Amino acid sequence: MCGIVGYIGEQSTKDFIIDGLKKLEYRGYDSAGVFLFDSKGYLKKCKGKVADLEKKMDDDNLSSCTIGMGHTRWATHGIPNTKNSHPHVSNNGKIFIVHNGIIENYASIKQILIEKGYTFQSETDTEVLVNLIEEVKKSNPELKIGKATQIALNQVVGAFAIVVFDKDSPNELVVAKLGSPLAIGLKGKDFFVGSDPSPFIKETNRCLYLNDYELAILSRKKGLTLRDFRTNRVKDQKIEKLKLQIEQVEKGGFKHFMLKEIFEQPKCINDSLRGRIFSNPAKIKISSVEEYWEKFKKSNRLIFISCGTSWHASLLGEYYFEELARIPVEVEYASEFRYRNPIIYKDDIVIPVSQSGETADTIAALKLAKEMSAFIYGICNVVGSSIARETHTGIYTHAGPEIGVASTKAFTCQAVTMLIIATEIGYKLKKITKSKYSEIIDGVQNLSDNVKKILKKSNKVEEIAKKYSKSKNFLYLGRGYNFPVALEGALKLKEISYIHAEGYPAAEMKHGPIALIDKNMPVVVVATKKGNYKKIVSNVMEIKARGGKVISIVTEGDKEIKKISDDFIEIPECHELISPILANIPLQLLSYYIADFKGCSIDQPRNLAKSVTVE
Ligand code: GLU
Repeated sequence: MCGIVGYIGEQSTKDFIIDGLKKLEYRGYDSAGVFLFDSKGYLKKCKGKVADLEKKMDDDNLSSCTIGMGHTRWATHGIPNTKNSHPHVSNNGKIFIVHNGIIENYASIKQILIEKGYTFQSETDTEVLVNLIEEVKKSNPELKIGKATQIALNQVVGAFAIVVFDKDSPNELVVAKLGSPLAIGLKGKDFFVGSDPSPFIKETNRCLYLNDYELAILSRKKGLTLRDFRTNRVKDQKIEKLKLQIEQVEKGGFKHFMLKEIFEQPKCINDSLRGRIFSNPAKIKISSVEEYWEKFKKSNRLIFISCGTSWHASLLGEYYFEELARIPVEVEYASEFRYRNPIIYKDDIVIPVSQSGETADTIAALKLAKEMSAFIYGICNVVGSSIARETHTGIYTHAGPEIGVASTKAFTCQAVTMLIIATEIGYKLKKITKSKYSEIIDGVQNLSDNVKKILKKSNKVEEIAKKYSKSKNFLYLGRGYNFPVALEGALKLKEISYIHAEGYPAAEMKHGPIALIDKNMPVVVVATKKGNYKKIVSNVMEIKARGGKVISIVTEGDKEIKKISDDFIEIPECHELISPILANIPLQLLSYYIADFKGCSIDQPRNLAKSVTVE
């Protein structure tokens, strides 16, 4: 995790570095720091948010600094405090680094360096790397910083995106990547660096995404040179034109990014579907499925690998694919899959699912599956991300940049995307009739309008949230398609309000959680019509019989469950397969408003970070 920025060029850079860190703060926010250089060098870091750092810099005149680097941290090694925050500096006071990732063999390198007389100010793995670079330089005094960094990187094991500066080479910055993401923005003689392009998008849309094992030297004199740091081979520079707009990474009048992203969903759904579904005649067109149809046709099993909210979307995907395409599905936590010697058969299709496309465990799991000769079909949101590049093919969900740490629109777009793929495959395999195919397409086409209807009633959800915001525990129940929704609802509440919440299949309640139910326990029951409606009525009765408070998500026109619930939120009548996607929207709002009433840091909840680029 963590966000890194860098700059070398002709402009004064303090504002770019600070604003860039704010844009990347979703990636980590336990401490922050900058290093800026004119002819001397200025290092400032502190525990807390970028705004705290900025205050500390208020009185310093830094306008002559035209080289800089910054870091907003999500600690892996060493608690969040000033000493452990980045940038770190080497013992000779000349080499500076910001780092995103983990150096796994830092302890043994640290020991060797200590024996050579190095001392360490922090507990971080990063400080070891910067001193290793110094040591490489010391043993080969003719080496410049680029080469020394290259040699050092070949001695470390782990994941990193780094920016390095050496006072002995004051006209260049070195950047490199393995595992963690790094993008370079190019504009004339200016080079911008970011964990993603959001810090520099207002300056330039010309972007070079570093690939794993690439090292670039950004030089005022020689421009950009790009190499493979293992082989030293010069690499082609594939500069892309970004479509990202600055408005997409700003709050646009909403109190939080999360709320903005919840309200963006009608548009995001349309973006996900654009060019993929058609009416008159009803048709789904997914080019990656068409192109690799032979693989899907003969596949015996789909294995979804994912983490967190993407795992919940994958679980919904399992219900969709098994129902519509009749292909057996397994849903794996990427972190478990990669470490347990999984069995993969020749015709399995492995489907990594990730918003960022940078989730470390998911990337490692997909690489493992690839080594085992599986065909990999990725579902991710961020265009050009590592997952998009590592897979054989796949589909973008087109939810747009998601900045709130709690995922909302990305889940919705993952679910919609999975539904249309499953529908298309099911139809092509003749597992569903033409009329079912058309009904689903119809339902998907109405989805965006139905989400708008739910959002119009957000005031009601806010009132309910107020009533329950002091509760200490919540239970979320759902059956069938609504079970993944119950899990996701509970996760959302935990993440941003710090209230303990558990999601369960409704019938499982009797096997344990029912013991928790009393008058202080709100139970959110996702009880939309169809499917197992009657069964869930009985579950609600069981909760009420034990004094529990029921908040139900019901279909408009429902009479039975509404009557016995303490509070209810209605969603429009819709196709059964669509209802979990709709039912999830009020749960997002419920978590949001509860967290807001509690005064929580909604976009940057404690201990979390958006893009989990460490395992
Ligand atoms: N491992 C480094 C640290 O703990 C970097 C963590 C990060 O990616 O923020 O400082």
